[in-house]
Amino acid sequence: MDRQQEYVLRTLEDRDVRFIRLWFTDVVGALKSVALAPAEVEYAFTEGLGFDGSSVEGFTRIFESDMLLQPDPTTFQILPWRGDEEQTSRMFCDVRMPDGEPSMADPRNVLRRTLNTAADMGFSCYLHPEIEFYLFKADQWDDQGAPVPVDQAGYFDHVPGGVAQDFRREAVSMLEAVGISVEFSHHEAGSGQNEIDLRAADALSTADNIMTARTVIKEVATLRGLHASFMPKPLGSQPGSALHTHFSLFESDANAFHEPGAEYQLSTTARRFIAGVLRYSPEITAVTHQFVNSYKRLWGGKEAPSYVSWGHNNRSALVRIPLHKPNKAGSARIEYRGIDAASNPYLSYALIIAAGLKGIEEEYELPEAADEDIGGLTTRERMLMGHGSLPTTLHDALGMLEESEFVADVLGETVFQSFLRAKRAEWDEYRVNVSPFEIRRYLDAI
Ligand code: GLU
Ligand code: MG
Ligand code: MG
Repeated sequence: MDRQQEYVLRTLEDRDVRFIRLWFTDVVGALKSVALAPAEVEYAFTEGLGFDGSSVEGFTRIFESDMLLQPDPTTFQILPWRGDEEQTSRMFCDVRMPDGEPSMADPRNVLRRTLNTAADMGFSCYLHPEIEFYLFKADQWDDQGAPVPVDQAGYFDHVPGGVAQDFRREAVSMLEAVGISVEFSHHEAGSGQNEIDLRAADALSTADNIMTARTVIKEVATLRGLHASFMPKPLGSQPGSALHTHFSLFESDANAFHEPGAEYQLSTTARRFIAGVLRYSPEITAVTHQFVNSYKRLWGGKEAPSYVSWGHNNRSALVRIPLHKPNKAGSARIEYRGIDAASNPYLSYALIIAAGLKGIEEEYELPEAADEDIGGLTTRERMLMGHGSLPTTLHDALGMLEESEFVADVLGETVFQSFLRAKRAEWDEYRVNVSPFEIRRYLDAI
């Protein structure tokens, strides 16, 4: 029993905690939870808690279903939305096989492996996520069957007495209460769309924090009689919801992306990292954009990046170099905009970081920065300037993923195959579905 584990056991007793939820994430990024009695926690720390992996998306085949949850004591938190009586807490878990080895199906383990590779190269990775989502009125639909946003406000709007700002205040306080620092929160561009940006943290904590933040946002919405959604593009005429993420690498205390006097203050390491990320971005898109609906955001305009490019302060670019004060070396970073609000953060971050590390290792050259709106160029102009594009449908994205040795290597065969299987099935289901749009458009077209 280590000190962190002892601290958890002591706190359970001191705070009279009645339920301990063990959290983990399946291959498509859904949070899974099992509640444990306090008396069982010590055993779970030492031996792990057995569960049936074959019932979890992408975990095991039916004939090898026994798996173990190993709670990570550093993630212990009391959950404030459950109230003061009969307190409930949670810990994230690593998933293990019966012999104690890390499960090859566990997304958290995929990210851990990539971070170990980074550590072997001397780097630690810090991430700052911008979480976008919509707030809708609960159980209300317009005459087209679309959900109804809580307001008609836009970017940074202050709505006096607004539902959204009270919501954000409560969600931010709740996040702080579970140890997650929030840097900004504001109304986003779409009606009912909001954004909550978490303070930078190490990559594994950031992925855990996103899983927690999604849960907190949904819980607070439910408590307030609202409906929060991370669907990538819930309203056809409004912007989609992204999960822009800022990445920086540190070598001990120094920001490895910063070089005073260089173009945009970007070091060679940063340039190679970006080059790697750009090179692999089309083949990782099925993971960073895992739903049929994701492509409606990606190709629906409204600041979503459809083309492979990078730029300084260019919001059509896939990788943007945010302005940072030259005297603030620590804040040098790159923003990856090609990831949507509904992706699995463990898998997406593993792939983006691994792509950047590959760029560093293989010394990839960074193409020219793009300073114009890439979407406004003609196809030929884009071709001449060397800007490729991201896939336009889940089907095309899966085709690229399937061919990718890089993705298979980073995810490992187990996650790679189960992700493909789940997503192929989703595409097949979509392919045969006749939508209300088609009925309206074609029933009497001829
Ligand atoms: N919601 C936009 C998107 O889907 C991003 C808006 C922003 O730049 O924050 O990518
Ligand atoms: Mg935003
Ligand atoms: Mg952003």
